[in-house]
Amino acid sequence: MPELPEVETIKNELLPHIVGCHITGITLFWDGIVRQPSVEEFCSRLLGQEITGIIRRGKYLILGLTSSEVLIIHLKMTGSLLLKPASVEPDKFTRAILHLDKETGLYFRDPRKLGAMWLVEDANSITGKLGPEPLEAGFTPQLLAQRLNNRTAPIKALLCDQTFIAGIGNMYADEALFAAKIHPLRLGGSLSRKEIERLHSSVQQVLWSAIGNKGASVDTYLRPSGEIGTAHFQFQVAHRLNSKFCPVCSTPIERIPIRNRGTYFCPNCQSHQV
Ligand SMILES: [Zn+2]
Repeated sequence: MPELPEVETIKNELLPHIVGCHITGITLFWDGIVRQPSVEEFCSRLLGQEITGIIRRGKYLILGLTSSEVLIIHLKMTGSLLLKPASVEPDKFTRAILHLDKETGLYFRDPRKLGAMWLVEDANSITGKLGPEPLEAGFTPQLLAQRLNNRTAPIKALLCDQTFIAGIGNMYADEALFAAKIHPLRLGGSLSRKEIERLHSSVQQVLWSAIGNKGASVDTYLRPSGEIGTAHFQFQVAHRLNSKFCPVCSTPIERIPIRNRGTYFCPNCQSHQV
């Protein structure tokens, strides 16, 4: 599923092409993609508006509009946003097209139909409960330590909890914990000061590196141009994509479920002992 680096890449790559464009039409192939307001209102309020900006919060894209409303998009498990000439025939997984100036279209493709769009006046009504952004200046080792204090959930589950920290999912949580040499089942509140500092810098390093590689095309993720991202070629343990053995110590990488998510780690480098 697209996580922070994938959504950040989409934002960066859409920005020069769609900011300043007007929404000249909306085609919906699956009404369920519109969560708020009603489909009729969504289309009538969106039509003719100019896109004034695009930002990312967690895994959400937030498009500013001239009416001061915002169009919020979440790609969930399998969504992608592709920028194409509006003459291109949509494939069977295209759920919506936002038609823009210059005969272009933003194609929302989503095989599993979990993606969503909201048109709201206040972005906080959708994104208000998200935790801190891991790449912003306010996310310090001290803040991470405060948020971990007394937490009894496994650290892997906390990293994937969007109200604990925004934007991280299964892949980058596994990569960050491997880089920090922390076992994914360690309880949040049990991490030492040193481990928290390592985890803080691993989270940032793993995310920045993946942004530099334009995200990971493990599943259906594509950049708006239709190209793949290459971050998954750098994965050390996530999905065991590159090797079944730890790249550091050659121990077989293990997979365990944590809160129903397959979690990959090296039982030697990420020992359960403090
Ligand atoms: Zn190892």
